[in-house]
Amino acid sequence: MKVVALAGGVGGARLAHGLARCLPEGDLMVIVNTGDDFEHLGLAICPDLDTVCYTLAEIASPVTGWGRADESWKALETIARLGGPDWFRLGDRDLGWHLERTRRLQSGQPLSQVTRDFCQALGVAVDITPMSDDKVRTWVYTDVGELPFQEYFVRRRCEPRVQGFRFEGAEHSRPAPGIMEALGQADCVIICPSNPWVSVAPILAVPGLRAAAAEQRVVAVSPLIGGQAVKGPAAKMYTELGIDPSALAVARHYGDLLVGFVLDHVDAAQAPDVNALGVQSLVTDALMRDEADRQRLAQEVLDFAQTLAGSAIF
Ligand code: GDP
Ligand code: CA
Repeated sequence: MKVVALAGGVGGARLAHGLARCLPEGDLMVIVNTGDDFEHLGLAICPDLDTVCYTLAEIASPVTGWGRADESWKALETIARLGGPDWFRLGDRDLGWHLERTRRLQSGQPLSQVTRDFCQALGVAVDITPMSDDKVRTWVYTDVGELPFQEYFVRRRCEPRVQGFRFEGAEHSRPAPGIMEALGQADCVIICPSNPWVSVAPILAVPGLRAAAAEQRVVAVSPLIGGQAVKGPAAKMYTELGIDPSALAVARHYGDLLVGFVLDHVDAAQAPDVNALGVQSLVTDALMRDEADRQRLAQEVLDFAQTLAGSAIF
């Protein structure tokens, strides 16, 4: 079964890791948000792409979900000591990755190629790709003005109240090589439990991508459980934008893109409202506490996708 997954960082990477364990090699493409990317200390940093690569290579930090396991912080300590910017945490091993990526990008290689080369070097068989090789940058409109994404997310710890988002460059961006073909051949598209506003929306803002996904069976997994995000500001964003944060709100958000929606047991009462949107629902344990949970949830999502209407190809 050919599957294309859309993912941001930590939540997306967890389910993508489960999917990678359930599917044969070559059957999974993960399209990753690059709206979070930025230039820092002269380096090209791609937080979501790196979280997905590190997680699938099984070298991610089990504590934070981002960055690397077995990390040290000597370079950052030196930067801090010298009075440089230390608000964005970059470990020593991680820095090596960014240095080499920046060198390759500067020599003219596209980000998708660099990512594929890095994955190959790490022995990751999954096709992980940035949504685009073109520069797309997320801006957050807030009560303290318009902030570049990492200023809002890391430096200000998501404290400003959000009023909206802008994905600079998205309208002229092109899907990275292979994405449209993979979407055309996919048996299903899975929207991972990533932040709908700032992880999934930038991917869907790449021209052509949303329409190509909509041609296939699209199933989303709710990142909100019991009205709360497992991690990060997703619920806070819904509230600040005047929407009651809930799994149902996420289903409504994706709207007619979806044929299936996965929500947690604690939100089971919302399943009839999801169904009323014309979207079939699966109620299960949507929390991924450990690696076994990732694989279990991924298999349930795949089985669910297979049962959905129009599944003649299975
Ligand atoms: P970020 O770039 O690291 O913020 O990455 P994502 O957007 O991919 O992940 C953040 C989202 O993942 C949050 O909205 C979380 O609620 C969601 N998330 C994290 N872990 C889980 C989990 O175990 N289950 C579900 N359903 N959602 C999760
Ligand atoms: Ca992110």
